[in-house]
Amino acid sequence: MTEPLVHTGHALDGAVALVTLSRPDVANAQNVGLLTALDDAFAAAMADDTVKVVVLQGAGRHFSAGHDIGTPLRDIHLPFGRRATTWYPHADKPPTEATFVREQEAYVGFCRRWRELPKPTIAKVHGACVAGGLMLAWICDLIVASDDAFFADPVLRMGIPGVEWFAHPFVMNPRAAKEFLFTGDRMSAEEALRVGMINRVVPRAELDEAVLALAGRIAEKPRFALALAKQVINQAEDRMGLRDVVASTYGYHHLAHAHMAATSDDHIGGQDARSMKAALKKEEG
Ligand code: ZN
Repeated sequence: MTEPLVHTGHALDGAVALVTLSRPDVANAQNVGLLTALDDAFAAAMADDTVKVVVLQGAGRHFSAGHDIGTPLRDIHLPFGRRATTWYPHADKPPTEATFVREQEAYVGFCRRWRELPKPTIAKVHGACVAGGLMLAWICDLIVASDDAFFADPVLRMGIPGVEWFAHPFVMNPRAAKEFLFTGDRMSAEEALRVGMINRVVPRAELDEAVLALAGRIAEKPRFALALAKQVINQAEDRMGLRDVVASTYGYHHLAHAHMAATSDDHIGGQDARSMKAALKKEEG
């Protein structure tokens, strides 16, 4: 029997859905199986009238270490159904096309869809929130982190200018975004708060309580007004360019994938989970 990749629980008499990424043995690395399960969980929370607020969290020691680039269940070559886009199947296509089409659905498509969920979402971040992990936190409306959390986009090490959901210069100021990308260094929760990327930092032991208190405050408000307030802010962000930037930088992201595929043995510069880990360890001495 296999455990579900995403688990949903409830709190505050059902007003808060606690959606948990549940691949703790691999730091909640995201394969399409997990992302599809996450989409199911979000859809169920939207359909449930009792649920007012959704909290997204990670089981185990980390929020999410990013897209699955090295576990035995990495599923990038497998076909999967389309939900967020109408893109055609990728698995039987030549490499550059396959990667471009796959990530339209699995990464950018899902993120766009989840950012537009009509109920408020809170990312509850502890431990690593790295690369693809950032994408899941960034598409939530609010981010509350524990003091042990850290954020990083190290995909530049793989020759790629940043993760697929290219919101970096919107979730922090452009100069901070450049340093974040150029160095690939970890950003502490305190620093993330300072650059405006997250809402709150709390001690690890108080994270559950702090998020529930915040979710509870929001859950008291009228559902429709919350949905409209969310749309208003999202539309303002889109008019500042978020939606267009994500769409236009997607081409650069895939130019980089194609370049790495042409000059190394993979579209991510020959990197895998093990080599990324080794590179990080070396830097940390
Ligand atoms: Zn990519």
